[in-house]
Amino acid sequence: VIRREFFFSAAAFGVIGALAWRHGNWLGLAPGAGPVSSPPTPAAADGKPTMVTIVKFSDAGQRLEKVTVPKVVKTDEEWHQILTPNQFDIARRADTEMAFSGEGYNRHDKGIYRCVCCANALYSSDTKYDSGTGWPSFWAPIAKENIVERSDSSYMMERTEVTCRLCDAHLGHVFDDGPKPTGLRYCMNAAAMKFIPAAKNS
Ligand SMILES: [Zn+2]
Repeated sequence: VIRREFFFSAAAFGVIGALAWRHGNWLGLAPGAGPVSSPPTPAAADGKPTMVTIVKFSDAGQRLEKVTVPKVVKTDEEWHQILTPNQFDIARRADTEMAFSGEGYNRHDKGIYRCVCCANALYSSDTKYDSGTGWPSFWAPIAKENIVERSDSSYMMERTEVTCRLCDAHLGHVFDDGPKPTGLRYCMNAAAMKFIPAAKNS
């Protein structure tokens, strides 16, 4: 007998839209603003977890092997146990922190940025730059495999949302007004990421 796991209830998705409005999305101009338009599909119909392929990185920022692993799926209750309310609203409800409010938005220390939900490696300080927006900005992810970019039409704007490949966390948006060499600006919420400083003398 196959035991079926139901990770999310339909009712849980019903409140996403309402919750997304709770914090500072004034005029919808914040780059990460907007409810997630469609819920993620955490598990296939047969109840088996969806598999994803990501690139692993050491805390020192060294690229390790590619791995195919089950997607990280938790209930809202479980997310609340490991996230602050602010982290939950941003990463799990696509909220946006106020500009210049995120811890370390202007940090320039060497290190890597991991997903606050699942520790997937997302960005390196090597591609971080000061965009002047008040949100941590990068011109490239640490590995394309580790993020998902999808179109987001919320707030009557055509934008590209950036989420974590491993756990579907909302991270921010990507725009095409960034610096060389890519011309991209990955505009992230500081609260969606955990900074791992590079060890001194390494
Ligand atoms: Zn994640």
